[in-house]
Amino acid sequence: MKKVVVTGGAGFIGSHLAEDLARRGYRVTVLDDLSTGRLENINGLLQTGKAEFIRGSVTNLPLLQKVFRDNDYIFHLAALARVPQSVADPLTTNEINVRGTLNVLLAASESGVKKVIYSSTSAVYGETSAVSQSEDTPPNPLSPYALTKLAGEYYANIFRQVYNLATVSLRYFNVYGSRQDPRSPYANVIPVFIGRIVRNLPPVIFDDGEQSRDFVYIDDVVRANILAIGKSIEGVYNIGSGKATTINELVNIILILMQKDLKPIHEKPRAGDPRYTRAEITRAARFGYKPECSLEEGLKAVIPAYSSQTSLE
Ligand code: NAD
Repeated sequence: MKKVVVTGGAGFIGSHLAEDLARRGYRVTVLDDLSTGRLENINGLLQTGKAEFIRGSVTNLPLLQKVFRDNDYIFHLAALARVPQSVADPLTTNEINVRGTLNVLLAASESGVKKVIYSSTSAVYGETSAVSQSEDTPPNPLSPYALTKLAGEYYANIFRQVYNLATVSLRYFNVYGSRQDPRSPYANVIPVFIGRIVRNLPPVIFDDGEQSRDFVYIDDVVRANILAIGKSIEGVYNIGSGKATTINELVNIILILMQKDLKPIHEKPRAGDPRYTRAEITRAARFGYKPECSLEEGLKAVIPAYSSQTSLE
C-alpha cells in the first residue's frame, strides 16, 4: 500500500484531497496544526481507519523528518493562505509559507520520498495587463502571501535541480467547494454570496462587477493533484477551469439557481484585487488535466451546503 502525507489536510482543499487519496487506496497521514483547518473536516475520514491525524506544524523540522519516513508522496498544502493576514503579519506568513515549505522539502529529500506536490497559487501573477495567465506570464506578486508562495515554488525547483527530489507546483486559481468557511473574514466570494442570498440580503459586489475570475471546482483540483503524481510531471502548472466569469455573471447564476430576485449592492474596488484572472491550462492538459465540472454544476453542489449552514445562524 502506497503511503502519503497531506500537510494542511484538515483545511478546505487538503481534507478533500486526503479523502480522495484514501478512497484510492493510499494510506494517508494528515499533518495539520489546526490553525485554520478543522478536525470536523476529516472526522469522517479518520473514522474509516484509512488515515491518521498528527497535530503539528510544518515549522517543526524534526517532526517532519519523523513523519515523512517511509512515505511515497508528500502533498504540501499547509500554509497561511490569507492575503489580508499576510499583509498584517508578513513575518509569520514567511515563517509558515517559506520556512515551512523549505522544511518540507528538506525532510522529503532526506526521507527518500518519490515526489513533493506543492500547492501554489495564481496570486503569484498579481496584476497583469493580460486577460489570461500562462505559466510563462512573469510573476508579479503583490502581497506577502503571493511572494511566499512563489518562494516555495522556487525552492521546489531548486530541490528538483540541485537535490534530485522530484517536485511539482500547482498554481490554483479560485477554488470553491464545501468546507470553505463562509463566516471567515477572508471567505471566498461564493460562500459569502450564497450566505447573504439565502438570508434575502443583497449580494455585495466590489467595483462594477465586470472584473473576472477563473472559478475551479474542488473535485477538479483534487484530480489535478492525483494526476501530478505521474512520473514525468515536474515544474509549474496552472490549475483552473480555463474559463473567465465576471462577478456580475456569477451573482446572476447563483440568484437564478437559488430562485431569488435581489439587486446587488456595488461598493468601492478593493486595493490589490486584479481585474482579470483566467488560467491558460494547455500545459496541464499535457498530463491529462481537464476540468470536468462546470460552474453551474459546481454551484448546484455547494448551494445546499452553504444555505443550510448560514440560514441556521
Ligand atoms: P485552508 O486555510 O483551509 O488550509 C490550510 C491548512 O493548513 C489548514 O488546515 C491549516 O490549519 C493548515 N496550516 C496552516 N499553518 C500550518 C502549519 N504551520 N503547520 C501545519 N498546518 C498548517 O486553505 P485552503 O484554501 O485549503 O488552501 C490550501 C492550499 O492551497 C494553500 O497552500 C493555499 O496557498 C493554496 N491555494 C488555495 C486557493 C483557494 O482558492 N482556496 C487558491 C490558490 C492556492
